Amino acid sequence: MAESLLAAMKETPDVFLPEIPQVPQGRYAHFVLVRETESFPVFQTDGSLNVIRVQAGLDLVPNARVISRLVLFKRKQSSPERLTGRELLRRYGIISDSGELACEYNSERFCKRCPDCILYGYAIGNEGAEKSKVYVDSAFSVSPYEESHKAFSFNALYEHGTMTKGGETRASFGEQDHVVPQVFFPSVVTLRDPTYEGFLYVLGNLLRTDRYGAQDTRTGKMTNHLVAVVFGDAEIFSNLRLAQAMYDYIQEEDRWSEPLERQAVLEACCESYHTLIAQEPIAKTFELSGSLAADFAAEVTALYQDARWTAELLRTLAAATAKYADDCKAATSRRGR
Ligand SMILES: [Zn+2]
Repeated sequence: MAESLLAAMKETPDVFLPEIPQVPQGRYAHFVLVRETESFPVFQTDGSLNVIRVQAGLDLVPNARVISRLVLFKRKQSSPERLTGRELLRRYGIISDSGELACEYNSERFCKRCPDCILYGYAIGNEGAEKSKVYVDSAFSVSPYEESHKAFSFNALYEHGTMTKGGETRASFGEQDHVVPQVFFPSVVTLRDPTYEGFLYVLGNLLRTDRYGAQDTRTGKMTNHLVAVVFGDAEIFSNLRLAQAMYDYIQEEDRWSEPLERQAVLEACCESYHTLIAQEPIAKTFELSGSLAADFAAEVTALYQDARWTAELLRTLAAATAKYADDCKAATSRRGR
């Protein structure tokens, strides 16, 4: 067995905090991902796909022209990932639907102490809130809208399965734009003040979530490729900047195709990551990229295949988030006195 990258990470000073701090400590773990569609998800808010006009690349010559890009808004990324994590918490008895461990998503009955509540945050009217420690921002397709979607018409059938009722044929066909497979959305997910277990929980959710999009029938398969992991003392570049740098790289290397080739995109992301991170005024404490990042993802994937390891991780994490919640409460009542 090759040397464990996770062990190396854990042993590096100033990477993980021993417990979740009450005030921000200026430590950030960044996951640099490429999110790839593998079927036909629908990312829309009011009936049409979310699209925005932005500059194609960062290079003013020759990529300054404006193109339309698909947008994957934050909640369309973080909600499915939260739900994946909560499902696991329920599976291993950390939270439940009722009783002492009850935690109800998006309601006033958030438990305010489980790993999901503490890491991803909650807001309950004027009863209090916990800021999310997981930062996600809107992501943009590398390829233009025109190359990234397809409109499918569908027949609005009557219940008995035909278009005809009482001798009259229904004229209304519906049409819906879908994102096509192999559209790539580079996306940086950041965890503020990471503990070892919190880091593995958030990463697990990124690796284990494979369905995104609007509710019910509008979802589609997606996979998250881990291109880099970097720990530093501040936030880093935006998703748009990364998409534009990747566009420049793919054009420069003359590897543009429709759809884009996965390997070309992953290489572009890795190269662009190195270019952009070199321009950031941050001090790094640990960094993995390219094939090492892929090896690291495989190492964590293997850990999650072991139910006993997962149960132990979640128990340790849940004890830490509950302690954090208790400490917060104690601090608040001290201040209130
Ligand atoms: Zn909770």
